[in-house]
Amino acid sequence: MSTDPNVIVGIDLGTTNSLVAICDSRGPRILGDVQGNSMVPSVVRYPQAPNQPEVVGTQAKLEATLFPRHTVSSVKRLMGRSRADAGPDVGYLGYEVVAGDRGAARVRIPAGLGVPERVLSPEEVSASILKALKAQAQTALGHEVHKAVITVPAYFDDAQRQATRVAGRLAGLEVVRLVPEPTAAALAYGIGLPRVGAKPTNVIVYDLGGGTFDISVLRLSPGEGDEPYFFQALSVGGDTHLGGDDFDHALVEAMWREVAPLLGVPAATTPSPGVAKLLSQEAERVKILLSSAEAALVRLDIESIAYSRTFSRSELEALIGDLVERTIVSATRVLEQARQALAGEPIDSLVLVGGSTRVPLVRRRVRETFGLEPYTALNPDEVVALGASVQGALLSGARSGALLLDVLPLSLGVETVGGAVAKLIVRNSTVPARAKEFFSTSVDGQTGIRLSVYQGEREMAADCRKLGEFSVSGIPPMPAGVPQLEVTFAVDANGVLNVSAVERRSGRQASLQVVPTHGLTQAEVERIEQESFRHAREDMTRHRVVDLIVNGKLDLKWIGERLAKHRTELAPEYAAELDAGVATLAALISRAEQDWQSVDANQMHRAKETLDRASMKLQELAIATSLRERPRQV
Ligand code: ADP
Ligand code: MG
Repeated sequence: MSTDPNVIVGIDLGTTNSLVAICDSRGPRILGDVQGNSMVPSVVRYPQAPNQPEVVGTQAKLEATLFPRHTVSSVKRLMGRSRADAGPDVGYLGYEVVAGDRGAARVRIPAGLGVPERVLSPEEVSASILKALKAQAQTALGHEVHKAVITVPAYFDDAQRQATRVAGRLAGLEVVRLVPEPTAAALAYGIGLPRVGAKPTNVIVYDLGGGTFDISVLRLSPGEGDEPYFFQALSVGGDTHLGGDDFDHALVEAMWREVAPLLGVPAATTPSPGVAKLLSQEAERVKILLSSAEAALVRLDIESIAYSRTFSRSELEALIGDLVERTIVSATRVLEQARQALAGEPIDSLVLVGGSTRVPLVRRRVRETFGLEPYTALNPDEVVALGASVQGALLSGARSGALLLDVLPLSLGVETVGGAVAKLIVRNSTVPARAKEFFSTSVDGQTGIRLSVYQGEREMAADCRKLGEFSVSGIPPMPAGVPQLEVTFAVDANGVLNVSAVERRSGRQASLQVVPTHGLTQAEVERIEQESFRHAREDMTRHRVVDLIVNGKLDLKWIGERLAKHRTELAPEYAAELDAGVATLAALISRAEQDWQSVDANQMHRAKETLDRASMKLQELAIATSLRERPRQV
């Protein structure tokens, strides 16, 4: 926990949404409000009557249609620009933009009842958003905040950057540094952080937000002296009017084509502002659902009609396909422009930023286009703020050690059936690190395998720290132990863990990406280490008992099935010997399942060995794969 009023928070001052984050001994994290909301919509509403407060964020956004001329959104588009330069953007804004001193863009808020007209600079409007973020950070941290790193688009010119600094100052913040958004996103993943043997890294940052698309090719090089890293934009590009709002719009049009006839109006008429608002809210909701579900239900009550229908993910993909392709074309062009500066060097990493990169089609096309597995472990709408906080920590020296990862502080593994953890990469391995192991199922006909990923030194999952879970589904039913699940753990040079699993017989696969060190302090690592020493002996026995239970049960099942089938072919004494062995092991297993400490692991091991040996002849009778080579089960 940070208690230092000199901390430097990181702020993503976005066109659609803004966020504030801190990086302390736990690593970077977002500072949310009391309800746990992290994003503050970049929307400010000004009073229309005396005694009304200024409203910033979610409420201002939700009520924007009620107060269109008093609500200011997307003011970032006006920062540091003249009214003339901002001209093409102004049409998209619902409020009035006028020319102020030397033609500078100003926002005009009309007079209300007993409230005079106001003409505000974009800096003042942004300052209101920054003040809200500052207050949110102070509440979350429990102390004052005076300093911030604020992010700006890579293409911001001097005037736009200067305006952002002014906005910070008006909000009572010392802007310690402005950082380009793509650089911040890279820093959040640890790319470009100073570490032993660091080399220059080339990164593509693909940022698709609500209304803007930015693509950047960066080079981050190890720094010298006080500068932890050097940053160079090799090429930048994008489209300042392309984003998730356009996806919503494509859905709105598709819905309107069906709703209009129901209302008895031609589809070519534009819906009323009220209906348009309803349609676009529903469109965004459905779009977001379709990022995780294959289908989503639309329900709308408009005037006298009720409209309801299901949209599938592929329908959405057909509607937004061309928009996504536009981003791909411009991304490819920007990469081409960087070729000369890259001088044959490869691109090392691909980072996804912006809420709209949650759309599966976007991920798929980006992955195909660049042939790289993108960084997605952090929330794409939080990654810029997180990176800004990392820069803040580098400047204040708040977190140096833990950010600079050269070895893995804790082991990484998956939970196996019975609750033990199979460690694939052990602690103190140097990064990058990689390991592969085969697992199988424990139940006949299992069509899905859930994998839980853990970090820690103890033997049982319950005593380790869970990093995440994912499932491989759609496996054709097979007997227990037959599926071959190949699990790969790969920790890259930045400490990001990619876990992938493929079932070899069916080719079904799934993956998970996490940043294991986030949320972990040095003190915790030490405590985990100490605990593992203290429990070493007990843990080892427990793990052994758990494995004996699992494997013993498989033996019992296998032998039971063969005995039932072949009993008549066996000598009666041999059948009796097997029956006795089965009974002994079964009794030990059921006792161990009640309480693992009530059995002697060695005794259990001997009972299992005895039965295994005795069953050799039975094995020869049956044609099957060896019991001993069976992989562990998840
Ligand atoms: P900005 O950088 O422009 O401030 P954000 O990065 O916050 O914007 O992105 C906002 C956009 O992301 C919106 O269009 C929103 O609908 C979209 N979005 C957020 N979550 C999802 C999701 N799960 N699936 C698809 N789009 C999403
Ligand atoms: Mg953004």
